[in-house]
Amino acid sequence: MPEPLTGILITGITELVTCDDTLDGAEHGEGLGILRDAAVVVGSDYEDVAATVQWLGPAARAPAADWAIDLDGKAVLPGFVDSHTHLVFAGDRSAEYAARMAGRPYDGGGIATTVQATREADDATLRTLLADRVEEMRSQGTTTVEVKSGYGLTLADEVRALRLAREVTEETTYLGAHVVPPESRGDRAAYVELVAGDMLAAAAPHAKWIDVFCEPASPHAFDADEARHVLTAGRDAGLGLRVHGNQLGHGPGVQLAVELGAASVDHCTHLTDDDVDALAGGDTVATLLPGVEFSTRSPYPDARRLLDAGVTVALATDCNPGTCYSSSMPLMIALAVREMGMTPAEAVRAAAVGGARALRRDDVGAVRLGARADLAVLDAPSYLHIPYRVGVPIARTLVV
Ligand SMILES: [Zn+2]
Repeated sequence: MPEPLTGILITGITELVTCDDTLDGAEHGEGLGILRDAAVVVGSDYEDVAATVQWLGPAARAPAADWAIDLDGKAVLPGFVDSHTHLVFAGDRSAEYAARMAGRPYDGGGIATTVQATREADDATLRTLLADRVEEMRSQGTTTVEVKSGYGLTLADEVRALRLAREVTEETTYLGAHVVPPESRGDRAAYVELVAGDMLAAAAPHAKWIDVFCEPASPHAFDADEARHVLTAGRDAGLGLRVHGNQLGHGPGVQLAVELGAASVDHCTHLTDDDVDALAGGDTVATLLPGVEFSTRSPYPDARRLLDAGVTVALATDCNPGTCYSSSMPLMIALAVREMGMTPAEAVRAAAVGGARALRRDDVGAVRLGARADLAVLDAPSYLHIPYRVGVPIARTLVV
């Protein structure tokens, strides 16, 4: 075995939020596994391998390392895992936002505007827009991001979006079933066949996941039968399953997601008792996207009800040009606390380990031995400052 290339000792951590339920010596009362006056050693044995956590514990017992960083009194937590975004797009819909704030309701139709602009953009333009958005996320503490296609809606344009997304993340999601594109509205069935057939075959090599906007309340999205057809085809092609469900009204998305064993069903704004029971009895994560309700002035999901039922909850941005053009996980935490009945600790867990579970990952979302050294640092002494100092950019990715 070669010697470690680098080992970096990080000290000056007033509060280390590990999100590790099993860590000896940590405070587990709020479910965050907190160590105070802590230190972490991160490093990699090989040049091409991502750095991992090699040691963590009280600063007084920290080992020596090749390099050292003193944070001088800051809180450190797992980098946020944003498990639901639509970052590959061009165009501008700020006027739509202004119109909606003036009273026009949202029904999913504005997506066609972005589809047109995205198809017209060249690869270099899309690549730059995507890279800038990922960097914006990193600057606010997000270290893992899932990216969906869904603004191409032709075989070539969906494959292009996934190819570009794969340049920035391994968590790529094929969303040919985002909406029925305008040119296919006369023949929905043919479009669904394309999405579940040739388009899927071309997309699958570039995707880890498949997702469907299952929302019968929207004339642009997909009903239960269409969603089932697309998801089962995706599963047969080796992709993991995700669902957009129960955003605009009660619907079949949650039940379908649980039945098919989807990793996550996202939105979950309108739930029946049966939906909550299904989530509690399955292993599908409920991913809540409160930036959407904020940006569309809609009722928020009832996170308290889900948590009290024992459902695993994740928070994500849904960063997209129509219903929430925010890349800020700290804002989602603040909204979850202010508007959805979550405690600050529950919201932080949901934004880190909850997101990791929604992506079926155990190497991110928690600070533990052997996990990726993906850390966020706050210009503050405690995680409580994330919702408390709403709108203030105190969180960033710790670059080591
Ligand atoms: Zn979405």
